[in-house]
Amino acid sequence: MRIPKRVAVIGAGSMGSQAMWRLATRGAEVIGYDRYAPGHDRGAAGGESRMFRAVHLGDARYTPLLKLADGLWEQLQAETSRSLRRRSGCLVMGETASRDMRLLLSASAAHGLDHEVLDQDTLARRYPQHCLPDGHTAVLDRQGSIIRPEASIQAAAGRAEQLGARLHRYTPVREVVPASGGGVHIVTDHGRDHVDAAVVTVGPWINTLLPDLPRTVEVRRVICSWHLPTRHDWFAGGAPAFLRGTPHDCFGIPSPDGISVKLGLSFRYHAPVPEPERLDRTVRPEELKAFHELIRELMPDLNPDPIRTSAYMEGYTNPPGSPSGYPLVGHLPGQDDIIVMAGFSGSGFKFSPAMGEIAADLALDGTTEHPIDFLAPAGVGAA
Ligand SMILES: Cc1cc2nc3c(=O)[nH]c(=O)nc-3n(C[C@H](O)[C@H](O)[C@H](O)COP(=O)(O)OP(=O)(O)OC[C@H]3O[C@@H](n4cnc5c(N)ncnc54)[C@H](O)[C@@H]3O)c2cc1C
Repeated sequence: MRIPKRVAVIGAGSMGSQAMWRLATRGAEVIGYDRYAPGHDRGAAGGESRMFRAVHLGDARYTPLLKLADGLWEQLQAETSRSLRRRSGCLVMGETASRDMRLLLSASAAHGLDHEVLDQDTLARRYPQHCLPDGHTAVLDRQGSIIRPEASIQAAAGRAEQLGARLHRYTPVREVVPASGGGVHIVTDHGRDHVDAAVVTVGPWINTLLPDLPRTVEVRRVICSWHLPTRHDWFAGGAPAFLRGTPHDCFGIPSPDGISVKLGLSFRYHAPVPEPERLDRTVRPEELKAFHELIRELMPDLNPDPIRTSAYMEGYTNPPGSPSGYPLVGHLPGQDDIIVMAGFSGSGFKFSPAMGEIAADLALDGTTEHPIDFLAPAGVGAA
C-alpha cells in the first residue's frame, strides 16, 4: 500500500484553507496550523466580500489561473452545499486611453470573455448610481462576481477536515526548518512535527515566519468603509461590484446583505504595517477624507457618513511606480520541500482555489502543469 505524503499547511486563511481542501481531496495526510481559526478578521480576508473578475487588469497571463479558479469555486460550492459566490458582474471604469483599460479590452477580446463596453449615456441609464467623467469608459465583465471570503475559508477548511485533514487552531508556527534527512520540521509552542512537505500561506505574517524571502513583501494596512445609499435604486442592474482607475482608484462591493456598499482605496493610501500582530485596527476621521471625495465626485447617492469602518492587512510586492505586484508562488529557492504563496498584492482572493490546487501539485508531485513561471518566488525566469 502506498503511504500518503504528510503535508503541513501553515496558515489556514485564504490560500491555506484551499490548499488543505485540494491536498485532502488528493489523499494526502494534511496537517494545518493557524494562528487563529478559519474565517477570522485579523489578516487579509476580512470584510465579508471579495471581487472576482474574469480578466486581471495587470497581466493577461493570469487568465488561465482565473479560469482554473472559476471552476474550483463552483466545485467547492457544490461539495459543501454553500453559497459562496454571487454572479453580480463587475463594472470596471477608467480613462479610455489608460494602459489598464486598453489591456482589459484587448484581453477580453483575445480570450473571448463575456463583456460589454458601456458609454456615458448607457452607463447613466443602466447604472445611475455611478458617474462617468468625460474621456472615461465602463466595461461590464459579466463573469464578474462577489465572493464571501469568511464563508469560503470556513467551507474549504471544513471540507478538508471532513476528508480527514487535521487543523491545529490558535497554534502559531514559530519555525519551518528543513530536516537533514529530507522533509521539514514544523516548530510550534507545543513541540515539533516532521512532514514530507510544507506549504507556507501565512499572508501578512510572511516576513515574521520567513524573513529571508527572495523578493520583498511589504505589509500594508488596508481600510474599508461601508456606506448606505440615499436612493432606493442604488442596487439597480444586479448590483455589480466595481473598480475605478485613476484619478480616483478605488473599488466597491455592494454588501451581501443588500444594505450597504463597501468602499476601498488604492495602494497609495495603504500605510506600512511594521508588526502584523500590532495592526492599528481603528480608522481615524481624517482617513475618511478620501472616501468623502470619491463619494462626492463619483457616487453622490451614497451617504458619506459610514455605518462601519475596518482595517485589514495585505502583503504587497509592488513598490510604488512598479506595475508588477506579482505574488511569490512556488518552491523556495533551494528548498524542494517548502512551498511559499505570499504577496498577493490586493488581488489574491479570487485565485485562492487555483492556488490551493497548485500547492497540492507542488507538494505531492514536485511540479505543476499550470502556468506559474511568471510568479516564481525568486522572480521571473529564476525558478
Ligand atoms: C481590504 C481588502 C480587500 C481586498 N479585495 C480583494 C478583492 O476584491 N478581490 C481579490 O481577489 N482580492 C482582494 N484582496 C486581496 C486578498 O484578500 C488577499 O490577497 C488574500 O486574502 C491573501 O490571502 P493569504 O492566504 O495570503 O492571507 P490570509 O487570508 O490573511 O491568511 C493567512 C493566514 O495565516 C495565518 N497565520 C499567520 N501567521 C501564522 C503562523 N505563524 N502560524 C500559523 N498560522 C499563521 C493567519 O492567522 C491567517 O489565517 C483584498 C485584500 C484586502 C485587505
